[in-house]
Amino acid sequence: MTTRPVALITGASRGIGRGIAIALAGEGYNVVINYNQNREAAEQVAKEVEAAGGTAAIVQADVARGSDRHKLVDQTCRAFGGINLLVNNAGVAPDVRADILEASEESFDRLMNVNLKGPYFLTQIVAKAMIDQIKRGGVMAPKIVTVSSISAYTASVNRGDYCIAKAGLAMMTKLYAARLAEFGIGVYEIRPGVIATDMTGPVKAKYDKLILQQDLTPIHRWGQPEDVAKAVVAIAKDLLPFSTGEVINVDGGFHLRRL
Ligand code: NAP
Repeated sequence: MTTRPVALITGASRGIGRGIAIALAGEGYNVVINYNQNREAAEQVAKEVEAAGGTAAIVQADVARGSDRHKLVDQTCRAFGGINLLVNNAGVAPDVRADILEASEESFDRLMNVNLKGPYFLTQIVAKAMIDQIKRGGVMAPKIVTVSSISAYTASVNRGDYCIAKAGLAMMTKLYAARLAEFGIGVYEIRPGVIATDMTGPVKAKYDKLILQQDLTPIHRWGQPEDVAKAVVAIAKDLLPFSTGEVINVDGGFHLRRL
């Protein structure tokens, strides 16, 4: 393994994943940029990672496919010799926001496969690789971070499939945190609120109104990918050494009940 730590970030070609990749590069990480379809965007992020002081490798893999998940981990280990940090970030929104009384099974299956089954089984593969590395004395205190959402606990009846997948990620974090603590592997969930990316582009006007005029969040601004990236950096820098299974809200205070 190279002396620099290695981060595998799913869905790093755009949005939040891109922000995490660049921030970790600034902390001296070698970064694996995973993408599904947008090769050009991934190549652009690789340039930005190198400019920030990191080394980048690009791996195409659909996290929903078992063979691709194995390919992703194999190519990461081949490129950099191991993994210190997995960031389960890749995710999709439903193609159409449909009321749960009308929403399709096809959308449900797609959301479950990409947003829940993908990270669940990718984490399984990576956790085993990390345990092997630890036993060989190669890596100390590796970490697994999953980007869920405020949708893990907020009912949006026009994207129930998305909410259920994100609620599943919350339990996934607890399960892996409980299982992997004995190996010294810390497992964390980051719950972003409304973040300015391609995913929220189609609903920008709606959220502009809710955030800027209607007090949706105590902090009256959109979140940025860099806000999420800073939380990942805090975990990567081992600033939470006696915490695991922890949820970090990066949501402008959305989760606060107010009266
Ligand atoms: P985005 O801008 O749409 O970017 C999604 C990223 O995921 C892209 O890099 C995309 O790759 C990749 N991806 C999609 N499907 C994939 C698959 N099957 N396999 C591998 N990679 C795949 O989304 P984002 O807003 O940055 O969201 C990132 C994560 O944060 C998601 O899990 C999302 O649910 C979560 N989140 C977002 C918000 C928000 O407000 N934006 C809030 C809470 C949580 P390609 O470029 O190849 O398509």
